[in-house]
Amino acid sequence: MTTENKTMLRLAKVQDSHLKDKSVVVRVDYNVPMKDGVIKDDTRIRETLKTVKYLLDANCKVVLMAHLGRPKGKADPKYTLAPVAPHLEKLAGVKVHFASDCVGPEAAKAVKAAKNGEIVLLENLRYHAEEEKNDEAFARGLAAHGEFFVQEAFGALHRAHSSTAAIAKFLPGAIGFLVQKELEYLDKAMVSPVRPFVAIIGGAKVSDKIDVLYSLIDKVDTVIIGGGMAYTFLAAQQTNIGKSLLEADKVEEARKIIMKAFKKNVEMLLPADHVVVKEIKPDAAKEVTQSMAIGDGWIGVDIGPRTEMLFVDKIKAAKTVFWNGPVGIFETPAFAGGSIAVAKAMAEATRNGATTILGGGDTLSVLKTAGVKTAQISHCSTGGGASLEFIEGKMLPGLVALSQK
Ligand code: AMP
Repeated sequence: MTTENKTMLRLAKVQDSHLKDKSVVVRVDYNVPMKDGVIKDDTRIRETLKTVKYLLDANCKVVLMAHLGRPKGKADPKYTLAPVAPHLEKLAGVKVHFASDCVGPEAAKAVKAAKNGEIVLLENLRYHAEEEKNDEAFARGLAAHGEFFVQEAFGALHRAHSSTAAIAKFLPGAIGFLVQKELEYLDKAMVSPVRPFVAIIGGAKVSDKIDVLYSLIDKVDTVIIGGGMAYTFLAAQQTNIGKSLLEADKVEEARKIIMKAFKKNVEMLLPADHVVVKEIKPDAAKEVTQSMAIGDGWIGVDIGPRTEMLFVDKIKAAKTVFWNGPVGIFETPAFAGGSIAVAKAMAEATRNGATTILGGGDTLSVLKTAGVKTAQISHCSTGGGASLEFIEGKMLPGLVALSQK
């Protein structure tokens, strides 16, 4: 049995792969926030438990491989995955062996020592520069740990790396439950959304979100633009934006996006007023503008109260909502009001029966700041970049590698 997503890839599912008493290599996304060896948020670990437990119940040996941070191809204790092992042991309720390397004799020894029904966690894949080069010999070394490959790292699907792409040349493979869930939500929203479909795109940079905006305009009824990137759009409409964030080389692109929305009859909402400061610092004196224009010398740091009402009403009336990126500098409590209001509106839309989807590390942090639980949102994607590339219609290398002809 296979699943087909909108990219028309045929992908085997873990539950249809008849895995029993096998050694299974599973690529997971354990790129969790960690400080001094303490895991600050274990959502990404918990999200893989369904697949891990399914394999343990089938008496498989589960060999987990993941990356953490950017150790730049060298062993660096700052980026060790070691603290994940005891944490996972508690969550999974079985022994977790930690291998101090992901390939070579140390890894082979740990895999051999583990029994079926136990877990091996391999050390950070990115301790080896070959990983990010999608090196085949390195992939073969990873594949040597098992007889089957399960792709469960949704957040890494948009990367063509040895552990996400090349490995599929050496082992038969399937997608795990988390990847299935992510694809189902995103696929449904993009292929047959219940309308009205509203997208809120915020964050700092237009350049990161141009492609997704172009694609979303083909699908949504309303696109809301907030955050730092909104100023480039306002500049494209000859609105004065003071000293706010501007990507001058993207103004023309922003104008094209505005024109596309206009031609397609898609409503585009930009901030109608702003919270502004003279200097970006936590205790800066704030003012609210009277219109969408910002005076000389002022910097837009959050949406204003009128905009907040406008955005919130749109979100609450929607039946499908996709959100990526904060609408203000939410890390500073004084500038977080607009982003918190959006998070709360998402929760209310969910209560009203809408399908709400959000993605991106910052967007998840806003949710936390707002006191909204992930359970109050239909689907919180574990991969911001991967979910954006999926919506852009790009082929995700981690899926292409597993696709059956
Ligand atoms: P991104 O990674 O593109 O989603 O951007 C997230 C970042 O956008 C956060 O760190 C926010 O502080 C930042 N951001 C949101 N609104 C603004 C703004 N008005 N000016 C500058 N940065 C902003």
